[in-house]
Parts: sequence; C-alpha cells; structure tokens
Amino acid sequence: IRDRVRGCRLGAVGIHEGRNVWRHDNHRSGGIIGGMGHAPVIVVVEPFGGSSRRQNPQLPHIFWDDLGLTRADGIFESLLVHEGRACNVERHVERFLAGAKKLDLPELGRDAVLKATGEAVAGWVDECGDELVDGKLVWTFTRGRASTGIPSVWMTVTDVPAGNAKLREKGVKVKLCEKGITLHPEKAPWIASGAKSLGYSATMAALRAAKAEGMDDVIWVDGDRVLEGATSTVISIKGKKVRTPPSGTDVLAGTTQQAVFETLTAAGYACKEKELSVDKLKEADGVWLVSSVRGAVPVRSLDGEKLNRNTPDDVARLLAEAMFS
Ligand code: PLP
Repeated sequence: IRDRVRGCRLGAVGIHEGRNVWRHDNHRSGGIIGGMGHAPVIVVVEPFGGSSRRQNPQLPHIFWDDLGLTRADGIFESLLVHEGRACNVERHVERFLAGAKKLDLPELGRDAVLKATGEAVAGWVDECGDELVDGKLVWTFTRGRASTGIPSVWMTVTDVPAGNAKLREKGVKVKLCEKGITLHPEKAPWIASGAKSLGYSATMAALRAAKAEGMDDVIWVDGDRVLEGATSTVISIKGKKVRTPPSGTDVLAGTTQQAVFETLTAAGYACKEKELSVDKLKEADGVWLVSSVRGAVPVRSLDGEKLNRNTPDDVARLLAEAMFS
C-alpha cells in the first residue's frame, strides 16, 4: 500500500485483473471511490506566475463557475508518459502555447509548462514504484472562474486506457461521419482553428453512434474529403508515398503525425500533406490513425468495407515507434 499524496490516506487495496485498486480511507462511500490502476497524479499550475503544487486527487480543485466546465472554454493536450518521460513534449508545448494565444489566454511560458510536466511525471514514476509504467498525461487550461477571471491550469497523469494495446494490434473498424458544418475562419477569426479546444461533445456523440453500429472509431469527412479521426490523424501509405490531409481549419495539426513524417522521411519515404478522398483511402496499401497516447492503429474497414492491410513491416514498425519520440 502506497501513501504518496500528502494529507490523503490513499492506497492500493488489492489487485483486479493485474491492476491495483486504489481508495481513500476517509471517504463516506466506505473507501473505494477511486478506480482501478494507479492513483492519478495531479499538479495545479498558477497561471500568472507558473508556480505549481501537487493536488490531492480525492479533493476537488475546480469551482462550479469554471468556464472550462460551463462553456468548454479552454484547451488541452494529451501526451504519453513512457519510460519516465513525456514523449514528443516540444511539439505539444508549441501547440498548447499557440492554442492559448488564439484563445486570448495568458502566456504561461514554455519553462512553466515543462517544469510542471517534470513534477507530474516524477509524481507518476514515484506512484508506480519499481516498474516504469506508461501513463496518460493531460494538460488542461481553461478560462477559469467567471467570478474571478482567473484561469485554471492543471495536469494529470493516469493509467493509459487498458484497451489501447489491443487496438494497436487488431486495428479498428471505422465509421465515416460528416462534420455537418464547413468553417470559414477568414470570415470568423474567433473560431481559433488550430487550438485543441475542450469542446468534444460532437466527437463523443459520433463515437457513440459508431459504437452503436458495432464500429470502434470515427473518421470525419466533408463530402468526399477526408479530414481526421475523432481523436487522431489519418495517414495513408501507398508504395513509398505517405499522405495526410492538410492541417488547418478542420484538421488539427497532429504531433504524432509530425513525428511519423520526420521518421519516415529519414527512412526514404515521400511524406506529404495532401487532400485525401475516401476512394484514395480504399486504394491505399494501409490506412492508419495516429495519436499521442493510443499510438498508431491500423484501420481495418470503412463503413463495413474492408481496407488493404499491406503496410510493409518496416513502415509499421517506424509508425509504432513514433509515439515514443
Ligand atoms: N485530431 C484530433 C481531433 C485529436 O483530438 C487528436 C488527439 O487527441 C489528434 C488529431 C492527434 O493529435 P496528437 O498526435 O497530437 O495526439
């Protein structure tokens, strides 16, 4: 039993399917209010000075009037923690700080973000004890309390979702979903395209619709134009050509895709941002969904139609390794 969080009697109470069950002894639920796996690590960051502190995960730290909660007004980043470090961290910092600027949130500064990240990762390593366990690190930055105008910034590290490794191995059945809207940032600069906004309710609804039809994931399309995965970037491989839809208004610039392109370019593949049609995906040797925490996942089918799975082994290996950049 570990007791890592100051002021909180938090500990593993048993093992369920190979994972710890953690609890808080003093809670009126009788103890078990946490969940399975390791206890979350939370670091709260002061948005104007950048100082940070560890937060007890059994105590609330967001107020009822936080605009991140009531208006989804804010941004986030999800990163993989692997072998005791945050992967691809420079690309995430860049997108996070650029997103904050687009939303007129205060300038946190790269050093403050990296310092708090270091504390969160060190806390996770400490929480996991002797073994180095992968974690999901999330940075959240909201407009904060309506009553005070002070933004909220915090970081969490939790266990990675248990099913991720299986999805990487087995691949996903994908539903093609229309966004239903075409954005025009030149007419509406307040859209802040490129920021990784907290507003994912339409995404979650599309994923529920896909799952209700026996599929695992979603690729957004605009007519015949392929955009991106629900929470990932689309990459197609054909011969030596590697393609991804251009990032911009309706496609988030993916940090994993950038790492993949860097690696595959060095290995002699021709990597390009280029418009992709649904038919092009159907003609490809392999179609992949890449993202920071889940990694590279092969697409098995689109709306029930089977896709090729002929990605060469060396490319599949390089794709898999890019998540650890
Ligand atoms: N596109 C969307 C809409 C996403 O939500 C994500 C990740 O969450 C991605 C792409 C992939 O981004 P990254 O590779 O930086 O994790």
